[in-house]
Amino acid sequence: MPITAPQPPEPATGSVTDRLVDANRRYAAAFHDPGMDARPVLKVAVVACMDARIDLHAALGLELGDCHTIRNAGGVVTDDTIRSLTISQRALGTRSVVLIHHTGCGLQTITEDFRTELEHEVGQRPTWAVEAFTDVDQDVRQSMARVRTSPFLAHTDDVRGFVFDVHTGLLREITAQ
Ligand SMILES: [Zn+2]
Repeated sequence: MPITAPQPPEPATGSVTDRLVDANRRYAAAFHDPGMDARPVLKVAVVACMDARIDLHAALGLELGDCHTIRNAGGVVTDDTIRSLTISQRALGTRSVVLIHHTGCGLQTITEDFRTELEHEVGQRPTWAVEAFTDVDQDVRQSMARVRTSPFLAHTDDVRGFVFDVHTGLLREITAQ
């Protein structure tokens, strides 16, 4: 009698996207429209790294409808982040900005040479900066400064920056210097 390997409880079928679409069907089946409008209840926009280990809503005690979340590699304040924050404040009523970077960020493992390497590989230099950094505290300060000095934002008096520790789940506030 051939020995068979133990089977996983639920063999994965299809792509990861199929799995997400299946999950959405279950989500929608239990979903009740809370009847909210698009303006965040807490009038806050959170800019954070896209890192998969940060569950922003759980980590900050946020509920559906509470905030805008703007995420990218590093949680850096790029022109496009400013675009989202400007719309968040001027069209959708947010007033506070929270910036969240974190320990062990992927952007600490690469340098701006990444752009040169890309250029060699594909024959085109990206127009965007990689925004790599070595000092996470300093990177949070730079992001806070970019928000505070943006001419497009209506509210820059409540801008605070933090480093999220992916091992403890704790935020550490960074003071501007
Ligand atoms: Zn990161």
